[in-house]
Amino acid sequence: MNVLLILNDLPYGTERSYNGLRLAGSLWATPPAAPKPDKSSPSVGGPGHRLLRGRHMAEIVIVGGGVGGVVAAKRLRRSLGGGHHVTVVDRAREHLFQPSLLWVADGTRRPERLSRPLSRLNRRGVSFRVGAVQGLDLSARRVRLDDGDVPYDYLLLAPGAELRPDLLPGLAAGGRNLYTLDGAAGLNADLSRFPGGRLVVLVAAMPFKCPAAPYEAAMLLEARLRAQGIRGRSEVAVYTPEPQPMPVAGPALGAAVRGMLTSRGIDYFPGHKAVAVEQQSRTIRFETGDVARYDLLAYVPPHAAPAFVVEAGLAPAGGWVKVDPKTLATPFERVWAVGDVTGIPLANGKSLPKAGVFAEAQAEVVARNIAALVRNAAPAAEFGGEGACFVEMGDGRAGFATGNFYAMPDPIVRLKTPGRRWHWAKMLLERTWFPRWL
Ligand SMILES: Cc1cc2nc3c(=O)[nH]c(=O)nc-3n(C[C@H](O)[C@H](O)[C@H](O)COP(=O)(O)OP(=O)(O)OC[C@H]3O[C@@H](n4cnc5c(N)ncnc54)[C@H](O)[C@@H]3O)c2cc1C
Repeated sequence: MNVLLILNDLPYGTERSYNGLRLAGSLWATPPAAPKPDKSSPSVGGPGHRLLRGRHMAEIVIVGGGVGGVVAAKRLRRSLGGGHHVTVVDRAREHLFQPSLLWVADGTRRPERLSRPLSRLNRRGVSFRVGAVQGLDLSARRVRLDDGDVPYDYLLLAPGAELRPDLLPGLAAGGRNLYTLDGAAGLNADLSRFPGGRLVVLVAAMPFKCPAAPYEAAMLLEARLRAQGIRGRSEVAVYTPEPQPMPVAGPALGAAVRGMLTSRGIDYFPGHKAVAVEQQSRTIRFETGDVARYDLLAYVPPHAAPAFVVEAGLAPAGGWVKVDPKTLATPFERVWAVGDVTGIPLANGKSLPKAGVFAEAQAEVVARNIAALVRNAAPAAEFGGEGACFVEMGDGRAGFATGNFYAMPDPIVRLKTPGRRWHWAKMLLERTWFPRWL
């Protein structure tokens, strides 16, 4: 039997053989483990730390309990031991494992499998506080919640991207949002009653998280129509403003994904920026003047940075938080940002994609550097731009793209030969996510 094991302490994208087993690195980037707490070094802290019972306690506040937030919280807790406070603030009570949303849409996952309570962080020595961040006072070092302020010595922002279907007229009423649990579950329900017709996957605007997701969605849903025996009386089409699939990864990868769509009879319409959706007539109007008809619409909504980061001066209006690409430090003292909320320009003029693989790796780097600062050591960890992503193709098969997005002058990204093992690898990632982090 050909067995593949995914190991967190092997770099992703690497494979080794061991006693007949094939071992592969963790598929969401896992840089070298954070150093163990140095019990010999006194907990002296920095100038802003609070003196509590004769000891300096650092208050580390993390906004967002998604990928970046939980990874940083757990790593900080492990690095610092019990001597300092780590607090995660999230407006939601549950952490959602977003990569499985597409499996909810295609009917192969129950929605309840995707979430776990963030209160589990309390068991790991991290304080979890439910609250929606309303604003930041970066000079007084306070996070303003709907029900009071939280002071910090070190602040990590990981609030992700806001999903804004309201930015495209008619979108919310006209279709199902692939990027929410309700939307994915609703699409599954629609499909179970679908008699056949035109199924459209629409990318409403750029940028959006997980550049492969709309293509995966189209292929998974196409397989679902076949399984239901209604493919013969159905069409599947993808409309997107992108010039090609996953443009940041280069023309070869785009052509490979396009080939996957074509081989499944999925029509592809790049360069199509939607301006309105009309629910009654079930049509989408585009900037080009084209009009597309649909019977079932699954959409990737417009994304935007949360208002509080713009209001705090961390991001320009309509833009994303500016950070140092290697350390994820913002221009504000003791404030970092990771994951989807950031906008990191690349050498080729495009931006680092928004993906969990990057949020995880960046959170590891920031956690190590904050832990070093708390111990009065020099922060030395850097994010190198490596990342990987699955491309689910339906029928239990997937591709796997891996590479370095900080490579000059263009990212170097390779697509591994698609097959069953990458689908299994994604399932293993899903299965190990909650045991690892919550
Ligand atoms: C369908 C789909 C498939 C995907 N597949 C993959 C994949 O295969 N591989 C991959 O690498 N990535 C994938 N992603 C992308 C990945 O899930 C995200 O990039 C990742 O979750 C980003 O992490 P983050 O920490 O920046 O934000 P998130 O994980 O989105 O977490 C943000 C958190 O902040 C909280 N928050 C937001 N605003 C506030 C506020 N004002 N106050 C308090 N809390 C707030 C939110 O409630 C949320 O819990 C996928 C995404 C989707 C939607």
